[in-house]
Amino acid sequence: MIDIFTSERKLLIGGEWTLSDETFEVTDPQDGSILTRLPAASVAQMDAAIEGAKQGAQVARALPVHQRKAILQRTAQLVAERAEQYAGILSRDCSKTIREARAELRRAADTLQLSAEEASRGHGETIPFDQRPGAERRIGYYDRFPLGIIGAITPFNDPLNLVAHKLGPAIATGNAVVLKPSSVAPLGALLLVETLLEAGLPPQVVSLVTGSGSVLGDRLVTHPDVAMISFTGGLETGLSITRRAGIKKLAMELGSNSPTIVLRDADLERAVEAILSGAFGNAGQNCLGVQRVILEDEVADEFTERFLARVRDIKVGDKRSEETDMGPMISGREAMRVEGRVSEAVSLGARLLAGGRRQGAFYDPTVLRDVPQGCSLDREEIYGPVVSLYRVRDPEEAVRKANDSPYGLQAGVFTRDIDLAFRCVQGLEMGGVMINDSSDFRVDAMPFGGVKGSGLGREGIRYAAEAMTETKVVCLNLA
Ligand code: NAP
Repeated sequence: MIDIFTSERKLLIGGEWTLSDETFEVTDPQDGSILTRLPAASVAQMDAAIEGAKQGAQVARALPVHQRKAILQRTAQLVAERAEQYAGILSRDCSKTIREARAELRRAADTLQLSAEEASRGHGETIPFDQRPGAERRIGYYDRFPLGIIGAITPFNDPLNLVAHKLGPAIATGNAVVLKPSSVAPLGALLLVETLLEAGLPPQVVSLVTGSGSVLGDRLVTHPDVAMISFTGGLETGLSITRRAGIKKLAMELGSNSPTIVLRDADLERAVEAILSGAFGNAGQNCLGVQRVILEDEVADEFTERFLARVRDIKVGDKRSEETDMGPMISGREAMRVEGRVSEAVSLGARLLAGGRRQGAFYDPTVLRDVPQGCSLDREEIYGPVVSLYRVRDPEEAVRKANDSPYGLQAGVFTRDIDLAFRCVQGLEMGGVMINDSSDFRVDAMPFGGVKGSGLGREGIRYAAEAMTETKVVCLNLA
């Protein structure tokens, strides 16, 4: 069993657990209490981790597929068996309630199991070379090879499953990984790395380097020996990474201000429930969480009335209580940022229908209407428990409004009309469209990622695994 709070925490560099001169506090956002102290690595320690990962890449590449598979399967099993213990830890440093932490644990075990299955799918294919005159009597194929060292940088909101989405496919495809987890919620990453080692992963294959993103993350991003950066986080950080990375593969899972459209023939009860959980789950700190609800005129009033009634039922409070629906935001500072954006929208003419109150890191579930086009609440990702309701005349206007955003991760559409559903699918500029679900729907095996400011590339185990390999073509001239 892993004792995360009392044992002295170390960095994992070149297969060795190593202390650092500096440390930083990890706190519980609910009450500010200090949970533990973690090492804040130096730049030299990040360099040593990357140097060690070169050896790790050789070890990872040489691991036969059956061993990669067995390690990932065993990790999935351990995570599932310890779900209750791990959920208790996970719900401390991030803003998840205990029920949300349990749900993340189930998903992380699935993600690791999917990664184990993906290990045996690293196929290439044969190629018919005689496609042009002069290329006859050749036979060949392409195969897929690990990239070498993957730099993985992860955010605070799903602190275990989003790490599993990077480590799982990297290990499945025979790569070494240097992981720089979120500094505000790093405990999920620690749990996963320790569990992988316990399941038999050679320790050189994964390095764990905790500390400042702008210093250590930047070093990882700019280092010439790192072949790929797999990043999940905010647009601003994503922009900095793309500017500074140089020639290496990039996978960018960024944010959004996701829309969900409710058309006149929608099943309103279903729409209300899905949008409620999609908007306020994890206190709205979710890249595909519902931020903009676009209502066709005919259903706007009824939807609003039913939605507000359900918003009033949400129990906000102690995240460790089984009764709680919504916990705090990740910090008081983040809650103040959200408060400022809402106040700005109200000062510009938006109407507050529910919420709008802050207490420390807690921000009430908040609903607005008449949010002026172009204000920051309309354009930017709010990343908090705030939903704006918009009213439109017809489905075409709904799609235009949904697309009027610098982001394009996922959208939801509620309608019973299959033709309308497909017109929306065609028109929406998004990485995914969920019919009769909110934008918040995801299973871990599906291709996941966005267009525009929402990112580059796709996660979902198979798609991440493909990105973490390079093809090599082989051709035999038999002439
Ligand atoms: P963030 O501030 O961008 O941080 C993400 C990670 O990047 C952290 O580990 C951070 O380290 C590190 N970092 C910070 N500055 C860096 C730099 N200059 N170079 C390299 N790394 C750097 O994001 P967050 O606040 O943790 O997470 C919220 C954002 O993530 C939201 O925008 C959300 O939409 C997005 N997100 C997207 C997805 C998706 O799949 N599309 C999923 C979840 C979240 P420190 O913690 O040490 O600063």
